[in-house]
Order: sequence, then C-alpha cells, then structure tokens
Amino acid sequence: MAVINFGSINIDHVYQVDHFVQPGETLASSDYQCLLGGKGANQSIALARAGTDVRHVGKIHESDSSFKQTMIRDGINCKHVQCTETPSGHAIIQVTPSAENAIVLFGGANQEMTSKDIMQALDSVKSSDWVLTQNETSSIDQVLIQAKENGLKVAFNPAPMTESVKHLPHECIDLLIVNEVEAEEISGLKDLDKIEAYFRQDWPHAEVLITLGKAGVRMLKKDRTINVAAFEVDAVDTTAAGDTFIGYFLSAYSDHAGSEAALERGCAASALAVTKAGAAQSIPSKEEVDRFLAKQ
Ligand code: ADP
Repeated sequence: MAVINFGSINIDHVYQVDHFVQPGETLASSDYQCLLGGKGANQSIALARAGTDVRHVGKIHESDSSFKQTMIRDGINCKHVQCTETPSGHAIIQVTPSAENAIVLFGGANQEMTSKDIMQALDSVKSSDWVLTQNETSSIDQVLIQAKENGLKVAFNPAPMTESVKHLPHECIDLLIVNEVEAEEISGLKDLDKIEAYFRQDWPHAEVLITLGKAGVRMLKKDRTINVAAFEVDAVDTTAAGDTFIGYFLSAYSDHAGSEAALERGCAASALAVTKAGAAQSIPSKEEVDRFLAKQ
C-alpha cells in the first residue's frame, strides 16, 4: 500500500525583521533561513515519518535538486519529482519579533504539473493505493479524475482555499480534509452543525474531516459522526499542524486502522508539532508519537 502525493515543493526564504518592509523602504533583516516547505512536501514528510510508502509527484528547478535529496533522506520516494528550468515554487516570508508574518508566494514549477506527468505517476499503482493532493499545484482536476479512473482512493486537502475548488469534480473525492476556515468557505456557513448538514447533503459520496485547531477534529462518516478532542499541550507554533495531522491520519487510515485510532494518531502527531517552532522540522517521528500516546 502506498500514498501517491501530487504536491507542491516550496523553498521558504524566512527573514527576521523588526517590522514589515514599507513602500520604498530597504530593510535589513537580522536573520535568514532557507527551508524546504510547501503543503505537499510537508504532508509527504509527515507520511514518511509515520512509516508510509509515500511517492511524491512534483517539480522544482534543477538548481534546487538538494531539496529533492532532503526529501529522499526523509524516506520519500522522489522518482516522480522532476527538475525543470522553471523557477521553483517559493515563499518570501518576513517574520516580526511578535511572530506575525507577511508572505509573498510564487507558484513557479508547482504550476507546471501536466496530464502527462499525472498519467506517468499513476502508471504502476495498485488499486489499494491512495492519491493525496492539495491546492498548490496545477491540473488538480486531472489528478482527481485520473486517480478515480485508476480505481484509487482519493484524499483532497483544498488548502490554500480558492474559488476554483468549488468547480472541481467533487464526485472523485473519497476523503475531504479541511480546517474550520476552509469548511466555512466551501459551505458558506459558520455553525459547525450546519456545516456538517451541508456536507452530508452536498457531498454524500465523501467522508469529510474537519480539523478544529485546539478543539480537535470532527469526522463525518457515512453512518456516524466522530468527534475527537485535541491533546492538551503548550503550543508555541501551529505552523504545519494541519499537514502533520493529514500525514499521520492518512498513514494509519490507509493502513486500515479504524477511524478513531487514525484520528487519535493524527491528533497526537499534530499536538507534538505545535510544541515546536517551524514547519517540516516540527513534524515528529513515529517513535515520538508512539511514546507520547503511551504516556496518555
Ligand atoms: P490547520 O493547521 O490546517 O489550520 P488546525 O489548526 O485545525 O489545522 O490543526 C490541525 C490539528 O492539529 C487539529 O485537529 C489538532 O488535532 C491539532 N492542533 C492544532 N492546534 C493545536 C493546539 N493548540 N493544541 C493541540 N493540538 C492542536
């Protein structure tokens, strides 16, 4: 069993600044880090650390191949990560002393996923495999359609949310994973019970997972609703909480763990992630998650 993740690979350029740069201002930054990021890469890292055979499908510029090596070292199969001449997807991130951020994002090579790439990546899959995708790469409609045609299970995380999500072929999606804001934007509703009623009415073919930050998670299954509380931890940085949850949940769920057990693992891993700063570096190992759960 494998998860084929059609996902973004971003390079995050993170600058520590006193304040956000103003029009016409040239601002010196006191610190700089260059990190692997993107929701796609983060979710592949979480799946790999959880112990799943994860195959990432994506594109980066040829001069950034060291980031592909970083992913391979983390246990991700990168046979379908292509190096191209288009600049890599990247983010210019300013962070102030009060931990506010301002971000400029460039999609770059992430926006060059084609039907041919999708077909090639799905060439040698098994019907028990899962496909996962987010909303940071091109041709998402084709990923959903071709995955379904190949008889695979399809998980979709529509982040970052855009209007175009509403026009995707929803009937191809088996598992929709959204946070509260995305759930509100898709449904146009605010109240969680009303949002649940909306998904049950308009998305009858899909299971829906709504992550609720420190309030935990709600899963809408065909025959029942499951609520799981978040673990109580001292949160320092919630970056990549959702990506960690998705990777650890899907790892367990695709390996036939029951829904409750998979939700608990997702909550445990993401609780650990919020106790550390950063994105990929905050995603815990399988052993850390096992130890954390054993102590509960
Ligand atoms: P996103 O990062 O996509 O906005 P959420 O904020 O809903 O997603 O967080 C995803 C999951 O991470 C939650 O369902 C919860 O299990 C866990 N989580 C998030 N914030 C906290 C927190 N402060 N304490 C414990 N767990 C948290």
